[in-house]
Amino acid sequence: MSAPLRLMAVHAHPDDESSKGAATMARYVREGVDVLVCTLTGGERGSVLNPKMDRPEIVANIGEVRRAEMARAREILGVEQRFMGFVDSGLPENEEEELPEGCFAVQKLEDAAAPLVAAVRDFRPHVIITYDDDGGYPHPDHIMTNKVSVEAFEAAGDPDRYPGTGDPWQPLKLYYHMGFTKERFEALHEAMNERGLGSPYADWISRWEDRPAKWPVTTRVPCGDYFQIRDEALLAHATQVDPDGFWFVCPRELQQEIWPTEDYHLARSLVGTEPPEDDLFAGIHADDVSPACH
Ligand SMILES: [Zn+2]
Repeated sequence: MSAPLRLMAVHAHPDDESSKGAATMARYVREGVDVLVCTLTGGERGSVLNPKMDRPEIVANIGEVRRAEMARAREILGVEQRFMGFVDSGLPENEEEELPEGCFAVQKLEDAAAPLVAAVRDFRPHVIITYDDDGGYPHPDHIMTNKVSVEAFEAAGDPDRYPGTGDPWQPLKLYYHMGFTKERFEALHEAMNERGLGSPYADWISRWEDRPAKWPVTTRVPCGDYFQIRDEALLAHATQVDPDGFWFVCPRELQQEIWPTEDYHLARSLVGTEPPEDDLFAGIHADDVSPACH
């Protein structure tokens, strides 16, 4: 029997795994791939974004509540998940606002990356998914997530780096999430208007700058059949997601018809592969896949 393929997704906060790449993970899990989500912070500084959950007892225990939500989402997706132990930096109101002492985004890179290097050396992923260097959106924890993911990809295979965090392991491919593209939202917007559904995206699209993508999409993973699982996982993060809000306005069936993929940019590859790809493991052969050592 051949050893399973292994996919690691690195995220800043609980809920990010369910809004970025969730259907991709749900699909790979059900195809026999081992999938591990590494969540860098506990999401302690996240605001309650669902009016129905904005209650004093929830706000007072937000760290604990978000752990329980994460446990539920993890079950729905079928993935393994580990917290890397850092504290949420919060989203500053403006550029001058200082980040809280000790939070994830103010850590030295080596300190911030060490638990992830250890996780890479333990789980031994063939492929890692993370955010681009702008963080996908400008939250300091998301930008830091990119930095530690790139660091772990580059350092985990080097026996001289990060001593004491396990035996070296070199992942083969590193991807950035490209789910929030103007192209995708324009397609959904048009389709909703054509069907008389009224699109909520007009304002948003009009504010989007027209410029060539910094990180062009190289890889589109078909996963429309898993959008329901994605939505259920996202709803499990009940403090962060309003079921009557923006994210659930576009009918799932329409998304499955108009844009049935989740999209990525191949940022690093140590295997030969020719984009466009439709599989994160494209170019990885049985010879590259050695067994996990847990
Ligand atoms: Zn986040």
